[in-house]
Amino acid sequence: MKILDESLRKFPKVDLHCHIDGSVRVETLYDIMKNQVELPTHDIKEFKKLVCVDSSCRSLTDFLNKFEFFYPYLKNPDVMERITWELAEDAFKENIKYIEMRFAPCLQASEKYSQEDIVKAVLNGFKKAKRDFGIEGGIILCLYRGTKEEEWQETFRLAEKYICDGVVGIDLAGDESKYSAKPFAPFFQKAKEIRIPATVHAGEAWGWQSVKDAIDLLFAKRIGHGIRIIENSVFFERVRNMKIPLEICITSNVQTEVVKSYKEHPVKFFYDNGIRVTLNTDDRGVSDIDLTHEWKIAQEKCGFGLEDILDMNINAIEGAFCDEKTKNKIKEKIQEETRKILSKE
Ligand SMILES: [Zn+2]
Repeated sequence: MKILDESLRKFPKVDLHCHIDGSVRVETLYDIMKNQVELPTHDIKEFKKLVCVDSSCRSLTDFLNKFEFFYPYLKNPDVMERITWELAEDAFKENIKYIEMRFAPCLQASEKYSQEDIVKAVLNGFKKAKRDFGIEGGIILCLYRGTKEEEWQETFRLAEKYICDGVVGIDLAGDESKYSAKPFAPFFQKAKEIRIPATVHAGEAWGWQSVKDAIDLLFAKRIGHGIRIIENSVFFERVRNMKIPLEICITSNVQTEVVKSYKEHPVKFFYDNGIRVTLNTDDRGVSDIDLTHEWKIAQEKCGFGLEDILDMNINAIEGAFCDEKTKNKIKEKIQEETRKILSKE
C-alpha cells in the first residue's frame, strides 16, 4: 500500500535518535548569527546552503563542514533552550508523540557557561514544549569520544542528577573509528547499576566490533545506527536474539557516505531478518529532512510497505527509555490513532 506524503504526516510517530545541535531551523540559525558575525549572505535561500546539505550530498566532510560553520553560536543556554523548544514544535507538527532528543553538553559548555548551565536550559526548553504541545519524551546526554575524562565525569554526574527530571538516558557519541569504547566502560557499568538506560553510537563509522563493545562493555540497550553488524553473520544473529533495537537513520547514512545510496542501505534486509529496526532522523536541520521524509524514503527507496513502517514505529515506542507506564500509555494512543487514520483511507 502506497499513500500520499501528506497522509504519512498525519500518522502518530516516534523519533528516538535526534541531535538537538543538528536539528536547528535555518531561520533560527540566521537569526542567532546575524548580529554576531558578518555573514556572507542575507538571502535566506543562500544562507540555507551554508547550514544544510542538499539532497545530492554523499560526503562526510561536506556534512561536517555545515556543523563547523554554525557550531560556535550554539554555546549559549538561551540558544539551547530555544532550539530544544523549536525542535519539539517541529516534531509536534508532524505528529510525533514521543521524542528523545540528545546532545553532548561538553560541546556547548565554555568558560562562560558550564555543562550544567546548558543542561538546565535544554531541560527547561523541553519542559515548556511538553506543556505547550503535549509531546512526550526526554533528553539523552551524550558522553563524547575524544574529549577529556573530566568532561565525561561531569556529563555522567548530570545524567545522574537529572535522570528523574527530564533526562531519560545516556549515549556515547563521537568518532568510534578513532576512539575506543573501553575507557567509557566504568561510566556505563555504573549507569547499568543505577538503572540509567544507555544507547551507543556504534557500527556507523567503524565495524561490527564497535557494536559488540557497545553491548558487552557499555551494556547498550539500543544501538545508534549499528548498520555494520551486516559484516558478521554470527554477531548479527546475536543482536537479533537479544532483540536490541537499532536506531536507523537512513538519509544521514547516505549523506555521510556510510552507505553509497538509499538502495544499498541494509535497513530492509535487517527488518526482513528479524532485527528490531526503528526509523529516526539524526540531524534533521543539517540533513534538511523530517521523520515523515524518512518514512517516505523507506517506502519509495528501501522497499517497505506502510504496514512495515507502522510496525517499526511500534518497535520504537517499545524501545523508548521512559518508564513503562508512560510507554504503555503512548503505545495505546499511537495504536488507536493509527487505526482511525487507516479506517479513513
Ligand atoms: Zn547520531
